Amino acid sequence: MAKHETPLLDQLESGPWPSFVSDLKQQAEVRAKNEAGVEFQIPQDAVEDLLGVLELSYKHGRTHWKHGGIVGVFGYGGGVIGRYCDQPKLFPGVEHFHTMRVAQPCGKYYTTEYLRTLTKIWDMRGSGITNMHGATGDIILLGTTTPQIEEIFYELTHNMNQDLGGSGSNLRTPADCLGSSRCEYACYDSNALCHFLTNNYQDELHRPAFPYKFKFKFDACPNCCVASIARSDMSFIGTWRDAIKIDQDAVNKYVENDAAYPPNAGAHKGKDWGPFDIEKEVLGLCPTKCMKFENKTLKIDDANCTRCMHCINTMPRALKIGDDRGCSILVGAKAPIVDGAQMGSLLVPFVEVNSDNDYEAITAVIENVWDWWMEEGKNRERLGELIMRQGFQKLLEVTGIDAQPQHVAYPRTNPYIFWKEEEVAGGWTRDVVEYRKHHLR
Ligand code: SF4
Repeated sequence: MAKHETPLLDQLESGPWPSFVSDLKQQAEVRAKNEAGVEFQIPQDAVEDLLGVLELSYKHGRTHWKHGGIVGVFGYGGGVIGRYCDQPKLFPGVEHFHTMRVAQPCGKYYTTEYLRTLTKIWDMRGSGITNMHGATGDIILLGTTTPQIEEIFYELTHNMNQDLGGSGSNLRTPADCLGSSRCEYACYDSNALCHFLTNNYQDELHRPAFPYKFKFKFDACPNCCVASIARSDMSFIGTWRDAIKIDQDAVNKYVENDAAYPPNAGAHKGKDWGPFDIEKEVLGLCPTKCMKFENKTLKIDDANCTRCMHCINTMPRALKIGDDRGCSILVGAKAPIVDGAQMGSLLVPFVEVNSDNDYEAITAVIENVWDWWMEEGKNRERLGELIMRQGFQKLLEVTGIDAQPQHVAYPRTNPYIFWKEEEVAGGWTRDVVEYRKHHLR
């Protein structure tokens, strides 16, 4: 019989959706029976008590977790998030219930042996509850006690060659998509770049020295499967510079509704969307209206294509990404903290990602940005907020990147170009005034 009554939580099990409450109840039962004969190092009824404290929080309409607290492993400042319950007498099993972040491998490739070893450690030294994966990308191990933290860290590092992830005001565990390991749209090897930067910035990952958190995310194409444009302070999004490759025969197969050419690669199978209409579903939805289909021939004005991927996703057998590939670097995205949520702004329109020199060029951009943010950023100010406060032009100055047309979202509405006095006093602004005088009457 359950240790705590949970009528409010039970409601979350109704409906057709999977429920974390059912998962927790199942885990509580497994621990109670302990058929595997695990020698638990934290209370056996920790998951029962977790359900109990959550029910109490729902009843009171407020959390019963105290604010974080400092816990960690020797030599690191991040990787463990302290959690203490403010009702330890009622729920002794979760008196301490710390979260550990474990760095996920690039592309999240695991062997079953790895997963078994990890869960074995966690069943014994933690609650057995995992979150695969947290919003940052790491493996999240939920719930252990202070004395177990060093033990778990030792087992991870010595027996599994596995590191902790980031937490606090440091570089958070970099996260990437599968990239060229499995995806035909990959414009660069996101796994390789993620791995390189993770190794290169170990100090920044483990020892918090930044004004606030900083996230790298790597999307190998503009489909943005890890949503780097919305979720990372610096996002690396694959793109190409040359033309989209068109197979005109395949385009016509889509237009003729050939069964072997289902639009969207058959992703909408089972729903009747009617016959495929290239005008409505491709040309009409191109954001820059840069496509034409005439005389059975598809034409794309590539200079005006923004590489949004819509047409390629819709007709994947007919259209392919170009061959001159690399990535764009965007900065400043964040979830709503101060001033609401923000998407990344384009900083580097295109950089190749093939050689050591390319990697060096990328680290130069990163380190210039960090130098400025660490110097000027206020405590708990994300990069995006500093850009808002001091201006994008300042960011261009500190990174030594020249303003380019791609930095302008819409002509004549550029919010971050301000003229300096010396530029206004003479130079080309004077020429503009002269030009207007003579030509724009
Ligand atoms: Fe238009 Fe997007 Fe296709 Fe470019 S990728 S042609 S912008 S739909």
